[in-house]
Amino acid sequence: MSTQPADLAPDYIRAIAPYVPGKPMTQLARETGIAVERIVKLASNENPLGMSPRARAAVEAALAGLARYPDDFELKAKLSERTGVAAEGIVLGNGSNDVLDMVARVFLAPGRSAVLSQYAFAVYPIATQTQGACAIVVPAKDYGHDLDAMRASIAPDTRVVWVANPNNPTGSFLPFDALHAFIQSVPQDVIVVLDEAYNEYITPAERVDTTAWLRAFPNLVITRTFSKIFGMAGLRVGYALTSPEIAGLMNRVRHPFNCNNLALAAAVAALDDGAFIAESYELNRAGLMQILSGLKRLGLGHIPAHGNFIAFKVQDAAAVNRALQAQGVIVRPLAGYGMPDHLRVTIGLPDENQRFLEALEKALA
Ligand code: PMP
Repeated sequence: MSTQPADLAPDYIRAIAPYVPGKPMTQLARETGIAVERIVKLASNENPLGMSPRARAAVEAALAGLARYPDDFELKAKLSERTGVAAEGIVLGNGSNDVLDMVARVFLAPGRSAVLSQYAFAVYPIATQTQGACAIVVPAKDYGHDLDAMRASIAPDTRVVWVANPNNPTGSFLPFDALHAFIQSVPQDVIVVLDEAYNEYITPAERVDTTAWLRAFPNLVITRTFSKIFGMAGLRVGYALTSPEIAGLMNRVRHPFNCNNLALAAAVAALDDGAFIAESYELNRAGLMQILSGLKRLGLGHIPAHGNFIAFKVQDAAAVNRALQAQGVIVRPLAGYGMPDHLRVTIGLPDENQRFLEALEKALA
């Protein structure tokens, strides 16, 4: 038998379980014949308000400059001003996925390992395996990260520990004192990635400014994104906050001009639109309450939610998912995460949440 092209890839690449995105609305429209305007997509933790009007205006203004390569100076300067992290410690990404992948490319390789939790965000094992490194998956505790077990799982060849707070898809949350103690306990020759994609959704009472920790922990990389509360998932901008040393390494593997002009302009403007962020936060809190009370009414359990989504439990999640899709409602099945009895719903606009709950009631009947 002749060699097939796929055989040419290393085993560790062929073993990767590909990332499965939420089903696009246009795809469900094609499959069901339901008009795309009638479809409710609550599957990818996007902001149902769209993006800030100021960011949109900035995109329109930036259209005129698209013949030129991007200049990321202004966004880094603004992020530096907002976070107190030196611009030399900020790395921009094409979404935060991109910066997560840079960390893996810099620190992981065959013969090295990374520690992550069961049910953690799918990109961690993908980024780890892409480098030929070994993923040490630590059993979750109540669907959340078991920090003690993760600490105990760090091996001599471990170079990265992946931590999401809140985590996706579970929504689980680590109190910041426990997280701080964990980072303190991790050897300094292991990089701790603290993925805060949903940071802005944490209640002010629970939130702590983790950027202050960077001074004490030169091995810490905090990642954040404009895809969630900033409503810019389609523009692809995320960033890492870290020490200048680590940022310098990440910049060596970063693709030049990985953030485009429109994305950079939108991100700068979005940071200035505090009113939009506040509105998005409030809408999310109200939507969480609306969906949680609906789930309670239907007698369904859920994992305590701390982001803009809820993982809830249903007997036959695959069947319920099909019944929801038949009614034009897209949520995220979690079988690929090893949670075949859960679905994840993103908080939408009040009427979208209502449509979801009505469709769910019918799907369960
Ligand atoms: N981290 C977590 C925990 C996420 O849920 C996501 C988005 N699904 C990301 C990172 C990456 O998002 P983006 O690349 O759009 O910033």
